[in-house]
Amino acid sequence: MTDFSKTRALFHLPDGLVYLDGNSLGPLPKKAVEKTATMMREEWGDLLIRGWNAAGWMAQPRSIGDRVGRLIGAPEGSVVLGDTLSIKVYQALASALELRPQRKVVLSDNGNFPTDLYMASGLIQSFDKGHELKIVAPEEVEDAIDDTVAALMLTEVDYRTGRLHDMKRLTEKAHAAGALAIWDLAHSAGALPVDLAGADADFAVGCTYKYLNGGPGAPAFIYVAPRLAEQVRPALSGWLGHDAPFAFDLDYRAGRGIDRMRVGTPPVLALAALDAALDAWDGVDMADLRAASIRLSERFIAEVERRCPDLTLGSPRDPEQRGSQVSFLHDNGYAIMQALIAHDVIGDFRAPNAIRFGFTPLYLGEDDVVAGAERLERIMAERLWDRPKFHKRAAVT
Ligand SMILES: *Cc1c(COP(=O)(O)O)cnc(C)c1O
Repeated sequence: MTDFSKTRALFHLPDGLVYLDGNSLGPLPKKAVEKTATMMREEWGDLLIRGWNAAGWMAQPRSIGDRVGRLIGAPEGSVVLGDTLSIKVYQALASALELRPQRKVVLSDNGNFPTDLYMASGLIQSFDKGHELKIVAPEEVEDAIDDTVAALMLTEVDYRTGRLHDMKRLTEKAHAAGALAIWDLAHSAGALPVDLAGADADFAVGCTYKYLNGGPGAPAFIYVAPRLAEQVRPALSGWLGHDAPFAFDLDYRAGRGIDRMRVGTPPVLALAALDAALDAWDGVDMADLRAASIRLSERFIAEVERRCPDLTLGSPRDPEQRGSQVSFLHDNGYAIMQALIAHDVIGDFRAPNAIRFGFTPLYLGEDDVVAGAERLERIMAERLWDRPKFHKRAAVT
């Protein structure tokens, strides 16, 4: 059994704060402070440019990619880090569309995170080959897969409700129709067991600042199935995806395998923090994580429903149908969340009316979840949210 009291001790969590927002930004791993400080002093400071070779900076997008790969069922050498998730979505989709030149439909759902959809429509415009972004309701995806679809592009866990798609079944369906499947694991990686190889996914992308605790702006990852990695043409053909970047050829020649999905200079400082953050996963059994996550979210739902009759569950009730987050709906959700944050319980708000809570067993226990529900009860019962300051919208919600 994974000992979650050990993993909890690895994180800096401010006293008295109940942090239910690790699905948006994971907390600071204590080791990341030391690791980045040492890296800056000894590597950037003393090695200077020699760090690219001597400290292995250039190899990190792949080596740390393998560490992420172990958490998502990806074989060694199939995941690389860099850029942001939006960019990785673009890369995956562009490569997928070129593999299915006769087909014109990109199929997604209205539970997808907007940037994925924006990147897809921007790409379709630039391609200018008559592609269409088809967006259906999540429960209609399966029936909408047909032989016009070039790529099925879905986020496995809905960022608002936590609803979980069946990756294996939908990928099988896509393949049976001759389409490729691209999975966004933003709310999956580090949240629940993922088996990319077992599901036979074609592409996957995700970020590392949510459940993987890499820190604000930590780099994204991309996975390409090894059976496709030598075939795909990288749309963003940057020099570090070149077969021989330091030959400085004038012509682009794609690098081997997943290396071709690299674009430019890796974010070495951010990779140092991420590498330290990933240490927390050593020895964590993902099945234990899932069981603990379900225990926490079920307890939270039960406590909130008992204490706060005005809040409606906005997530699937069956824990097997959810990722590791839960939403409640209320017309004054924004103000309620602001009041809750003022009372040291941090979740977040997603328009139009969802207050959202993430459950992260690495550093949360049942006491935290109950404390969160208690404070929410008080805010609801005493209408503490109904003050002008809690209704004022900030830029980031
Ligand atoms: C968080 C999230 C993003 C964020 O993309 P960035 O480029 O890292 O800002 C994209 N897609 C999904 C599904 C997300 O949940």
